[in-house]
Amino acid sequence: MTTYPQIIRTIAELRRVIASFRKANPDNQTVGLVPTMGFLHEGHKSLLHKSVTDNGLTVLSIFVNPIQFGPGEDLDKYPRDEQRDLVVAAEAGVDIVFLPQVEEMYPNKRVTTVTVNEVTDRLCGTSRPGHFDGVSTVVMKLFNIVQPNRAYFGLKDAQQVAVITSMVRDLNVPVEIVPCPIIREADGLALSSRNVYLGQEERKQALILSKSLSNAVKWIQDSELTAPQLIARLKEEISRVPLADIDYVDVLNYPDLSPIDNQMLLGSVQPESDLLIAVAVRFGKTRLIDNKLINQVEVGANTCFAK
Ligand code: AMP
Repeated sequence: MTTYPQIIRTIAELRRVIASFRKANPDNQTVGLVPTMGFLHEGHKSLLHKSVTDNGLTVLSIFVNPIQFGPGEDLDKYPRDEQRDLVVAAEAGVDIVFLPQVEEMYPNKRVTTVTVNEVTDRLCGTSRPGHFDGVSTVVMKLFNIVQPNRAYFGLKDAQQVAVITSMVRDLNVPVEIVPCPIIREADGLALSSRNVYLGQEERKQALILSKSLSNAVKWIQDSELTAPQLIARLKEEISRVPLADIDYVDVLNYPDLSPIDNQMLLGSVQPESDLLIAVAVRFGKTRLIDNKLINQVEVGANTCFAK
């Protein structure tokens, strides 16, 4: 039988309910948090399932956070469907859905911002100025409101995982960050709430993202390539698709997102560091991101895994 989650719209009530859960379950009952902007799909569901499995209480937050959108971005038309999201939450076994209004999260003029440096210097950090300040600030607020033991984030947004992990480390936030693998459609397209914006032809051509990333893994295994050569090859392949308008293609060390310079990718094995191949491409007005995170040691040993 599906039990319906408790819907909470205020910070005060959320704090109250979580405190009474902790009081009633003093031993070994952990709280998991899954922060989202709603319009839930299988990617979100995978995070929810993991949290429900791992924790005594799972809080799903649904908040389209205005301060992480830049001017001219899709804040106003960001897709929303509260009723459907609640059904998804119920099916996933979520205990609490936190659904605050903007005024609840930002009641006053805000004079405090959490800024994470360096890992935000590239990729979406440069093409969406201010975006990660908005993300780290709202996530820090959610961490302080919920005080979760664990928080779940998708590697679809690999840079976001790097940003939040750095913030938690540097500010000693007592939460375990759990990165979760990218969930894809059967044909390879990474699930995203923004996929609904795509027209039929754009949807078809958007497959170039996952296809070119898979090809990149093969190219690294089959030939000696430097990062700039791999980037050039990826750009060439993506540009062949008429509707694709490239925002960025980059290959970086992960999770510090430092550049790889000119050495051969296979020869540059750093056991502590993975390799992130990340792309952002516009199809019409829709900007899609995708990535492959690969372990250089395993690529070298020809047992490449993509997280
Ligand atoms: P969003 O609602 O887009 O802000 O996403 C909320 C969380 O779901 C973030 O941690 C995302 O990385 C994660 N997520 C979104 N799409 C996917 C996907 N296709 N696979 C795995 N996680 C995802």
